[in-house]
Amino acid sequence: MVDQVCRECHRLVKGQTCPVCGSSDMSSDWSGLVVIIDPERSVIAKKIGVELADKYALKVR
Ligand SMILES: [Zn+2]
Repeated sequence: MVDQVCRECHRLVKGQTCPVCGSSDMSSDWSGLVVIIDPERSVIAKKIGVELADKYALKVR
């Protein structure tokens, strides 16, 4: 089963609603998994505008 990704914040979400931004606009068409462990020090986290440690997709269609 493919994980859904929130179109708003690009977070990987289990279920139909994003627990962080509350959006139900999900996509299963995404690529480039990024795991952010330390958003404070992560260059990637800053690049994609992430402030919480989680799994994110780089590209969401
Ligand atoms: Zn979201």
